[in-house]
Parts: sequence; C-alpha cells; structure tokens
Amino acid sequence: MKISMTRDVKKILSEFYKNGKKAYLVGGAVRDSLLGRDVVDFDICSDALPSETASIFGEENVLLTGEKYGTVTLFYNEKGYEITTFRSDGVYGDGRHPESVTFGKSLAEDLSRRDFTVNAMAAGPGGEVIDYHGGLEDLDKRVIRAVGNPEKRFSEDALRIIRAIRFSQALGFDIEAGTISAMKAEKERLRLVSKERIGAEIIKMSRFSFMPPEYVEIVSKAFDGYVFGDTVKSLGGVSFSRKDFYFAALFADTPKEATYGCLSSMALGKDVAETSAFIADNAIKSFDEDGAAELLVGNGRDKVKSLAAFKEEAFSDYNLSHTVDRFEREKRCFARSELALTGGEIKNLGFTGKEIGEVSDRLVRLCAGGKLKNEKSSLAAEAEKYRKKT
Ligand code: ATP
Ligand code: MG
Repeated sequence: MKISMTRDVKKILSEFYKNGKKAYLVGGAVRDSLLGRDVVDFDICSDALPSETASIFGEENVLLTGEKYGTVTLFYNEKGYEITTFRSDGVYGDGRHPESVTFGKSLAEDLSRRDFTVNAMAAGPGGEVIDYHGGLEDLDKRVIRAVGNPEKRFSEDALRIIRAIRFSQALGFDIEAGTISAMKAEKERLRLVSKERIGAEIIKMSRFSFMPPEYVEIVSKAFDGYVFGDTVKSLGGVSFSRKDFYFAALFADTPKEATYGCLSSMALGKDVAETSAFIADNAIKSFDEDGAAELLVGNGRDKVKSLAAFKEEAFSDYNLSHTVDRFEREKRCFARSELALTGGEIKNLGFTGKEIGEVSDRLVRLCAGGKLKNEKSSLAAEAEKYRKKT
C-alpha cells in the first residue's frame, strides 16, 4: 500500500536519508491520506536528534519547540513540520505523563508507543506504508483499537480514553470491543489527567456531532465525576454550529457552582468559558415573557441570543427565540445605553448622584417588561413620578 505525499514532504524525508538518517511521515497524516481526507499537519519521525535535524536543515529553519521530548518544528517553504526523534516512552508513574522520555533506536519502537492502530502507521519517502499493528485492517473495518494491551495503554495515559472517543467521533468509527471495555475499566484514572489536556481534546471533539450517552458517562469522569445527567445524554448525535454550544451541552446538568470552574480550567478563553457557562446554567430552564425580559436586562442581548440559538439546536425549542424576536420588533430596551433618555437628560430633570443610575435602571426595567415605551416624553414623565416618590 502506498500513499501520495506532497513534494515538500518527499524532499524533507529524502534530505534526512542524504545525511545518513532515517525519516518517515507518521500518525494522523498517514491515516488521513489513506482515508482520502485533507491532511493539514504533517508529523515526521526520525532517528535524528533535534540538534542533528537543526544541522541538516540549518539552525535558522528549526525551532526547538519541545526539545526535551525530541520535537522540533522545521519551517520549509513557509510551512511548519513537526519532527520528533524516535521515542520509546518510559514508565508512566503517575498515569499522566512519562517519567522519562527515552529516544528509541527504531521506527518499530516509536510506532509501539502510539495510541491506536490507525495512528500507528508510517510512510517512507516513496510513500510505502509501514504497518506493524494492523492499522490498515482497522481502517478497513472502521474501528479504533488500542496498540498493544488496552488496559495497560489506558493506565499509562488516561487521556487516551478521551482520544479514543475523539477519533471515533471524528472518523465515524466504532471503538473495538476490547478497547471500549478497557476504557470503561480505567475511566476513573481520568481524574489524574490535567484539565488543559482534556480541554484540548474536547475542543477538537467540538467540531463533530455530540457524543452518544455511552461516551458521556466516561467523559464525565474527567470532570471530577460531575454527573452528566439525562439532558446531556439526550444530545447524542446533535451537530452544534458553535464550539461554545458543545461545552454548554456537556455541562447542562452540572451544578452552576461547578460549571464555570470546570470550563475555566480547560483553558478555553474567558469569553467562550463565560458564554458556555451561562448557556449551561439556563439550558433547561424555560422563560415566560417576564423571565426573558429579566434575563436580557441581567445578561445582555448577545448571551441571551446565544442561549436561544442553543435551545433551537439542542432541543428544537424555539420559544425563547420567538420571544426575543418579538421584543426586537417592539423595540424594547434592555440596557441604560439603549434608553431614549440619556444620563445627562435625567440629570437635567433634577436628579443627582446615584439617583441618576437608579432612575435609569428603573426605566430600563419598565421598558424591558413592555410596560413603558422607550420614547423621551414617556420616559421623562415616568422619571417625574419617581422623583415625587423619593
Ligand atoms: P489530528 O488530525 O486530530 O491532529 P493526529 O493523529 O495527528 O490527529 P495528534 O493528537 O496530533 O493526532 O497526535 C499525533 C500522533 O501522536 C498520533 O497520531 C499518535 O500516533 C501520537 N499520539 C498523540 N498523543 C498520544 C498519546 N497520548 N499516547 C500515544 N500516542 C499519542
Ligand atoms: Mg495532529
């Protein structure tokens, strides 16, 4: 079996051989070429050490991105290639990362440390596929299968449990029976894995349809066992249009106090974490007209519109969207900045200091609830009433 490679990849591989070294395209690039998918990242493994790669291609073209792990980034024709020295990973004492990285001598050793058979194939400069673990057969059968003993591989690094789910969703593959039962047996170890690593996998997962209930059960262990309940399990197969919707879905059944903590520990960025947490918190609540108005005043249009769109995608529930649309048609106002009466104008009516803010907020609440028109004259009249009361 042969794959076709870009000219640049061929040239890079050949350059190693000209210098007495070996090099192969490896991992996802081989898998995706065989599947006829677009390949964006080209990972290469070689017996050359980082310093040797630097002297072959010139120091100025090589960035020592992860020298400790044997990884460098080679810039070649303005594209980056990750080049990693053959590795055989050491003992995983804490179930998180290898205590030592040993540079291996052979491609065979390097392929044995990889997670799944479909990720453990390599290709030489002529494109010939090297497959020691039955990856080609598993691609044919469309299954994700651990390389070697699955219990051992998941106990070495529990992140692989999440990765199995990610690849199964991304490729539309089943997880092989022995592999899935080992995932279930070892799932408690997910507590040991850093949230950043988990987050990075889930960010990638969010590009695909939502995972089925069987996997939700496993993934929940990565988040301190917060039970992902019936709502989350009912979302299997839903395709969300935004990644924050995916995270919101994951935490729809999680207690509010825990949700933001879990989301921020995943290093998603503040905006994504905040919107996801807001949607998760309100995902299964329903809002009558007053409830919707209150939500808009408290959280602003953007967040509430996101929530409404989420409810459509997740549950085909259009209620909140329709309410918000109607409010827009009625030109209701939900923030001080949207009032037809400015702070200065309120001041001119004789209010001072913090009274101005209080009057504005009262006007906003009345306009939001549809009890007052957002027009200068009616707002001013209402403000007058307020003064008489104080
Ligand atoms: P993608 O297209 O999603 O990036 P990929 O196969 O390139 O898929 P990466 O996460 O980029 O996946 O990892 C590159 C390769 O490194 C994998 O194909 C696999 O061989 C190996 N690998 C990555 N993480 C692990 C791990 N935790 N344990 C064992 N092997 C791993
Ligand atoms: Mg990759």
